[in-house]
Amino acid sequence: MKNSGKAVVFQGSGKPLMLREFPLPTLKEGEILVQISQCAICISDLHTISGKRESPLPLIPGHEIVGTIKELPSKSKLTDLKGQILQPGDMISWTLNTSCGKCFNCKKEIPQKCKHLIKYGHSPISEEYSLNGGMAEYILLRKGTSIIKLDNHIPAHLYTCINCSLSTVMAAIHAAGKIEGSTALIFGAGMLGTLCSAVLKSQKAEKIIAIDPNLKRLEIIQQFGTSHAIQWRDNLKTEALIRHILTITENHGADLVFEMSGAEMAISTALQTMGIGGKLILCGSVFPSRDISFNPETIVRNLWEIKGIHNYNTRDFLAAEKFLSNNISNFPFSDLFHPGFYSLEETEEAIKTARTKKFHRVVITP
Ligand SMILES: [Zn+2]
Ligand SMILES: [Zn+2]
Repeated sequence: MKNSGKAVVFQGSGKPLMLREFPLPTLKEGEILVQISQCAICISDLHTISGKRESPLPLIPGHEIVGTIKELPSKSKLTDLKGQILQPGDMISWTLNTSCGKCFNCKKEIPQKCKHLIKYGHSPISEEYSLNGGMAEYILLRKGTSIIKLDNHIPAHLYTCINCSLSTVMAAIHAAGKIEGSTALIFGAGMLGTLCSAVLKSQKAEKIIAIDPNLKRLEIIQQFGTSHAIQWRDNLKTEALIRHILTITENHGADLVFEMSGAEMAISTALQTMGIGGKLILCGSVFPSRDISFNPETIVRNLWEIKGIHNYNTRDFLAAEKFLSNNISNFPFSDLFHPGFYSLEETEEAIKTARTKKFHRVVITP
């Protein structure tokens, strides 16, 4: 059996990525060694590599991973979130981070803010723990990682979205409450926005309006349930955009607004598009931005709710896997991916392709 594996190491923005060989670890209780089959490049990986997002270095980037179990500890029987026994050869997905299940935040069912978490693809490598990111042949899953066994009839790369964007969308949908019959507005037609549109459609939202500057993305999001796609060009004034939304919503404003872009303009505009009792769910602001002011009286008199969503818990992760498995033939998920896959040796090229934003996701197959 092979006793080492290759991994891409990021050492700081502007520095070339290095392909290094790491010894395969001896498993401790609760740990699983996974052979990675696919790793999609997320926007947050691009932010890390460009230096927009600060991370402790060096690290192995990549967290939207699907792989098969290579090795399990010999003594213990491990199960997935559905109670299914895990075995070598099983195709699995897992949560972005480990959680202890015991700390203050874990007890509040916010495991993504566990006080002892390790975040795959965002944690530094060390002598003690190196194989912790997705742009690699193998990854070592630590105790406290929630796992779901996957249906191997579905192409593996389609599952890469479930442990990041789709679970975050499920957390946003949970926060939104009742979807059926609602008018929903999505700012940003990237991966989050597009998957959000699909989930809203499947839960019978009456109108789904999507706003984005990118025409191709707007075309795609309409295949994912969006009923009204609006291109936000530079010459489209905010007032005109708001008027347009009010016309679509018969002057009521949107019931639910999902901010998936993180763009400052979108956030300040979002508040002006909401109807009485509207909910604004903020998901896109995962990098530093300016303060945005709001008028508290407007929020009170309109009975608005504003909720921030960052990552997800196991409920959302299970919901994401279920949604994808149940809807695989209802939406053209494969259109979200660059058709050719890249090898580990071609990671720099894969990242360049991802930066063009021509595809929602570019996949590396180690
Ligand atoms: Zn991601
Ligand atoms: Zn914890």
